[in-house]
Amino acid sequence: MKFSPAMSALHYGQSIFEGMKAFRNPAGEVQLFRPEENFKRLNKSAKRMSMEEVPEEIFMDGLKKLVSLDKDWVPSQEGSSLYIRPLLFATDAYIGVKSSKNYTFLIITCPVGKYYSEPVKVLAADKFVRAIPGGVGDAKTAGNYAAAMLPATKANMEGYDQVLWMDGYEFKYTQEIGTMNFFVEIDGTIYTPKLNGAILEGITRDSVITLLKQNGYNVVEKDLPITDIFEAAEAGTLTDAFGSGTAASISPISAIGWNGKEVELPAVADRKVSNWLYKQLEGIKKGEIEDVNNWNIPL
Ligand SMILES: *Cc1c(COP(=O)(O)O)cnc(C)c1O
Repeated sequence: MKFSPAMSALHYGQSIFEGMKAFRNPAGEVQLFRPEENFKRLNKSAKRMSMEEVPEEIFMDGLKKLVSLDKDWVPSQEGSSLYIRPLLFATDAYIGVKSSKNYTFLIITCPVGKYYSEPVKVLAADKFVRAIPGGVGDAKTAGNYAAAMLPATKANMEGYDQVLWMDGYEFKYTQEIGTMNFFVEIDGTIYTPKLNGAILEGITRDSVITLLKQNGYNVVEKDLPITDIFEAAEAGTLTDAFGSGTAASISPISAIGWNGKEVELPAVADRKVSNWLYKQLEGIKKGEIEDVNNWNIPL
């Protein structure tokens, strides 16, 4: 690819992406998990970033054609898949802040194994902010990740794997983690922060909520204060915490740091909800468990 040093995406950040996966089912066929949702979210991000939207047939036909060509690269081992990364960025060679007239849409793929081999330790942000309502936190746009790198490095130096982002006003309400949405189980109810424009609307988040509700679990989306989590830990009612996302699937959280304190979660083997969800979700994506919601799309 050739581009101008004045290419506007590099200077002004009109760059958005998606993350999705293709899986091999027991018959050896390749299937995509909820690709329509990625298509819709890409264009939602495009709207927010004042970019031109991608026509549905270009996205879906291009996706299917590419994955068909690459289908021998779709692995079949447990936890593995073909990761798919659609990308849209501004290509006008123009110095000056304005929406680009020209864009490139492309898709790249690579085979991946399990994302995190170990449960993750997260540190609640107390200084850095990822997003506030009205900003671009609910767009999958490049700058959000650039802004998160320094805080993540600082959290790493304190022994944590990821930042647990908090609301940008009071640092009181939990939002999400790196590239995952956040769930906790307290006293038998599963809570996740309510979407507020600052949280990325994860497709895995939606799948998790749907599966939990369909299977009789009590799920509540609400503004979720970190103090509730620490109080539950003290009371012995904090039984599970996990992140959800395409890359990581269901990723159990082993500890949460906040305000100089830390809570530890029960051993991963004892996590009924996150273990069940991981098996369900991966089983559905791989065609091993019945897909009652018609989430899988054959190539
Ligand atoms: C992609 C992403 C998620 C997870 O979304 P999925 O659609 O479930 O993969 C969560 N948070 C952020 C910030 C993300 O970029």
